[in-house]
Amino acid sequence: MLTLQSDAVLLDHHASDWRDALNQAGQALMEGGLAREGYRDALFEREQQASTWLGNGIVIPHGTQKSREHVLATGVRLLQFPQGVEWHDGNRVHLIITIAAQSDEHLDILRQLTHVLDREGVSEKLARADDAEEVVRLLSKAPVTARLDGDTIVQGVPARSALELTAAAAARLEQLGCVDRRFVADILAQQAISLGQQLWLVRSATGVTQPALGLALPQAHVDGVAGIFCLAESGNAHDVLLDRLVKVLEEGKGEELARLGRDALLARLSGESASAETVRVRVRNAHGLHARPAKQLVQVARAQGMPVRVRLAEGGNEAVSAASLTKVIGLGARRGQMLIFSAEGAGAREAVEAMAEALRGGLGEEVTPLGETSDARPSRNRQTPREPVVAPAADTPLTAVPASPGMAIAPVFVMRPPEFHYEETASDREVQKTRLGEAIKEAEQQLEEMIRAAGGEVAEILSMHEEMLGDPELREAAYEAINEGKSAEGGWWRAIDVAARAQEALADRLLAERAADLRDVGRRVLGNLCGVKMPDPPTHPYILVTDDVGPSDVARLDTSRVRGILTARGGATSHSAILARALGIPAVVGAGEAIMALENGIDMILDGERGRVIPAPDPERRARTELSIREREIREREAFEVRFEPAVTLDGHRVEVAANLGNTAHAADAVERGAEAVGLLRTEFVFMAHPQAPDLDTQIVEYRQAFDALGPDRALVARTLDVGGDKPLDYWPVPAEDNPFLGLRGIRLALTRPDVLETQIRALLMAAGDRPLRVMFPMVKDVEEFHAGKAIFDRVQAEVKASDVQLGVMIEIPSCALLAPSLAEHVDFFSIGTNDLTQYTLAIDRGHSRLSAQADGLHPAVLRLIQMTVEAAHAKGRWVGVCGELGSDPQAIGVLMGLGVDELSVSSRQIPLVKQRIRSLNLEDSRALALRALACPTAVEVRAMLESLT
Ligand code: PEP
Ligand code: MG
Repeated sequence: MLTLQSDAVLLDHHASDWRDALNQAGQALMEGGLAREGYRDALFEREQQASTWLGNGIVIPHGTQKSREHVLATGVRLLQFPQGVEWHDGNRVHLIITIAAQSDEHLDILRQLTHVLDREGVSEKLARADDAEEVVRLLSKAPVTARLDGDTIVQGVPARSALELTAAAAARLEQLGCVDRRFVADILAQQAISLGQQLWLVRSATGVTQPALGLALPQAHVDGVAGIFCLAESGNAHDVLLDRLVKVLEEGKGEELARLGRDALLARLSGESASAETVRVRVRNAHGLHARPAKQLVQVARAQGMPVRVRLAEGGNEAVSAASLTKVIGLGARRGQMLIFSAEGAGAREAVEAMAEALRGGLGEEVTPLGETSDARPSRNRQTPREPVVAPAADTPLTAVPASPGMAIAPVFVMRPPEFHYEETASDREVQKTRLGEAIKEAEQQLEEMIRAAGGEVAEILSMHEEMLGDPELREAAYEAINEGKSAEGGWWRAIDVAARAQEALADRLLAERAADLRDVGRRVLGNLCGVKMPDPPTHPYILVTDDVGPSDVARLDTSRVRGILTARGGATSHSAILARALGIPAVVGAGEAIMALENGIDMILDGERGRVIPAPDPERRARTELSIREREIREREAFEVRFEPAVTLDGHRVEVAANLGNTAHAADAVERGAEAVGLLRTEFVFMAHPQAPDLDTQIVEYRQAFDALGPDRALVARTLDVGGDKPLDYWPVPAEDNPFLGLRGIRLALTRPDVLETQIRALLMAAGDRPLRVMFPMVKDVEEFHAGKAIFDRVQAEVKASDVQLGVMIEIPSCALLAPSLAEHVDFFSIGTNDLTQYTLAIDRGHSRLSAQADGLHPAVLRLIQMTVEAAHAKGRWVGVCGELGSDPQAIGVLMGLGVDELSVSSRQIPLVKQRIRSLNLEDSRALALRALACPTAVEVRAMLESLT
């Protein structure tokens, strides 16, 4: 979250007019390394659309949607103008808070500032402040409101005297952790003050840790006492509450208070009148009531033609005007919280219903019903009964998403999420915070141990978990919840749940999948708090069946016993899937909730290549599978023994087999597995491994590592940076897009930063020297884009000597395959990215948890595009590789060869098997096979035809 820090404050600025002031603000962002020149223009553009005047001498200039490409890093600069500047809307500005934002971060700032707008004299104080800390303090100090909620009210006290009632009220505040013993002692020594209407007040500032207003109401009649208010005061935090109480008394409704139910009583004390029409609605927006939906809600309120008020049902908050944007945002309503709308007079019912309707409709956002989101919420004491799910039928194949290749047959171990039983609330706040702190520390130690034991990719992911644990905002959110009366467990899970839901709502699938990591971290701490151990897996080999296996669960797996993983949720790009691949465990993901109903111990066949599982297979099927697993093991062993031999068909045709890499450090391993080249270096992963864009020297070191491992004869095919779509880069933010896969990604994005592309090409050429380097551009749609990239390439090549270089394009977009003849003239080679080519040809998101099984590269439409590409390339004497997953599909290898593909680039582990498969084929037969496949109408028929021949 964007926060205001003193080092971002720049004091004592002077400007001739608002333009000059805004210029200075833009300059400050640039000098701070937060934005480029173009962003300054955007600040002006934004002011033209609407003034960013906030109130109380403050403006918050920020860029427009499309200017986000000029943002280098999210940040803020605060410029003080002691003499003030007249803004273009006539307001006088003393403070410019200018924001370089990659998404809607300015809303965080806006929310933090809403309280400043109500405070008198802040503008002058901001103008006079001569110390940066003072400015931040003035802006950050949120006014504390005394607590008044369902818990601070004690009804039905069996008291016979005013003193007993007073004691009950004070004791409740002590239980809630708002006060200590000294407060209680002080209160009991006091004489209560009469408020009239049989209501009394006792107050003290001794021993107060959180200002609060308690109220004790007797069960039966107590002479002259309808209720006693007990005030734990601190500063003027209680002013608003007392004002509201006075208003109720002025209306003569004091005695009535004591007879109301808790909700009605709170409603009255929140400023809602007794005759108000009210309606309660839960917020279902993923990010709560942030600025965009808040704005819509405000518009609905303004259209009602009468004042509509709104408040949070929890806490003693005042009902605020639903027509005020800052007030509505200031509520800070989160998903799941209850809002109460109220209005009075004729038409009030319709007005509040209209508000409720608008909120239920999502206010312009898509909302999911509460409880229907993918939520791994730990069970609490009270659990909502769930619909019983029926386990998949015996001996019937169930298809889901293939996530890690390989085949297994073993009994299943269904890992049902552990039950966490805990009290949701607690009154001893400090104790709860200490408990939470200790549980987090314990979790950190557990993770550190696991990281030491794991190493590699597993360790990297667990380190990310460690970082999540250390996130101060997560801890702060939990503390905040504890301050509101939650227990350590309740507070921690609320913080995790809110953060995970926000993450899940992100359009970017990769980022959204990090929600599983958050929940995993959350459960670890919860387990420590509740003393719950994760269920112990069996000691014999098994297939793990789980809802959505957390990365640390995978890391904990004993790979000698886990034969396969099957999950109900998750996509192929989830960390769990990545880890399963890294550990070489076959996995199928996204199989649906029904698998959780499988009986522990039944046998299951899991096919990680086709994404299929068969529970309780009949003996015949089981025997067939066992045989094919054994055959595969034998094939793997044999293939590994001859991995360094070339892949030559029975009739003497050679196909080069290369490795796909994301990390240059793995090049040596690829060579050791028989790679004849690196056919695809996904250089964006090199970039992702650095917290900021690696400079020229850093990149040279990285690429050189691959060249050194490959030696003088094996080529390195490096794809230039392919960011965007499913591959976000933190420090290269891409504006939020409705369809990131159809947006600014690949070469399109790289061309917006020619400097980055140029540095990368320079580093590749310098690292290569005399060794064979092939450079290719990703996601090219036509020759024009290729030429734009080539112009940069030519410029650098003219300066840097590298003797064996070729330039090519990836064929990933159908347009490029259709226009291959026009490209073939200009390129040295094509490399077909079948993952994206299939996605764009069949219009199926490649990571879609339900559809991706249909995104089959053996679809005849994709095969035709491959055929066109190869024919165009060979007509001009160019070579063609396939670097998508299709290249390692045993069924597809013959078809691709028959279509004329010259090189297959596959994951390192697959190299020996792919080579062996080629050795078993005959080019002439493969050509005939390819023709038959091209003539099929669907992918299913292609596969059926191929299967019938084996
Ligand atoms: C492809 O799209 O097939 C490809 C190899 O690129 P990536 O999977 O990295 O998008
Ligand atoms: Mg691709």
